Amino acid sequence: MGPTWIDQAGAVDVPDVAEALGLRLDRNRRAMRPCPGCGADRREKRGAVRVSHKGRGWWCPRCNAKGDALDLVARVLHRAPKLRDLTAEQRADVRAWYAGRGWCDGGEGSPGIARAPMPIPKRPDPEPLARPEEREVLDLWFACARVTEDAAVAQWLVSRGLDPETVAARDLARALPEDLDAPSWARFSGTPWNRGGWRCIFPAYGPTGRMESLRARSIEAHPPKGMKAAAAAAGDGSATGLVLADAAGREVLGTGAAPRWWPEGEPLRLVVTEGEPDFLTWATRYGETADDAPAVLGVWSGGWTPEIAGRIPDETRVTVLTHDDDNGDHYADKIWLSLAGRCEIRRRAKETP
Ligand SMILES: [Zn+2]
Repeated sequence: MGPTWIDQAGAVDVPDVAEALGLRLDRNRRAMRPCPGCGADRREKRGAVRVSHKGRGWWCPRCNAKGDALDLVARVLHRAPKLRDLTAEQRADVRAWYAGRGWCDGGEGSPGIARAPMPIPKRPDPEPLARPEEREVLDLWFACARVTEDAAVAQWLVSRGLDPETVAARDLARALPEDLDAPSWARFSGTPWNRGGWRCIFPAYGPTGRMESLRARSIEAHPPKGMKAAAAAAGDGSATGLVLADAAGREVLGTGAAPRWWPEGEPLRLVVTEGEPDFLTWATRYGETADDAPAVLGVWSGGWTPEIAGRIPDETRVTVLTHDDDNGDHYADKIWLSLAGRCEIRRRAKETP
């Protein structure tokens, strides 16, 4: 009897496998990031995953996840600690992943081509998401003014280094008038958005690219802690599955593919930001006719879901620009886990403002 597929696959080193999974290796291939167990993504501190001397094993000093190359694939494809923890069906996925790279034979009846890895975590139990009436969302959005027509909102944008003209021209945010009677869901801690200073309004998009809700951002110079941005819509979990998106980002959500104007054969570039000002910074950074402008999405707590991740095309080059703090790490991990194996992901931690 010849070597088993595990013997064949086991001959491939951890660094080669890590690279094929989309992890990033340091120059001498002795450390890699991020950790598929805990998402640790720091070169400094205890973070980057160590690769053993001969490239046969790996270990994360932060969460103690470890194993050989096959365990690494088991981790990324199925979140299992070890290959031996997988069901027969899941092991077949691992085999197909290796076979697809020519690293082992695909087994009986195998066409020799693996099906794509399945990195997206299982869907949570579907719960009806709290959303306001679509009609009311649109009514409120259309009742808002251009940001250039509202001195206080325009000034807040300028104070964040943003150009109100560009924000208005691309219709990325609008100004909620102070004197408007906002619907009952447009409140934060019981206060109507426009009475409490949450007057910069952003459309919040769901995984089909439809405007499902609105998000209100405070234009106060020093909003109380935790009161900067009002969650989109009403009720608990109301921000779940919603993101901010520029025109290209909306098209990606709507079609699950790169925008029509994106050069054929080029991997799509996508920037995921945290918070409203960073979203606007990136969504206004490139000229409108720039053909290298990435699609931009903005996330906040609970926004990113497997459904949103499922809209990002394979092979997209994703840059995650979340803040350099615990929340930012958390969002980055979640995004990484939902896309690993099929997109190329870079994390650039940004200083907390
Ligand atoms: Zn770890």
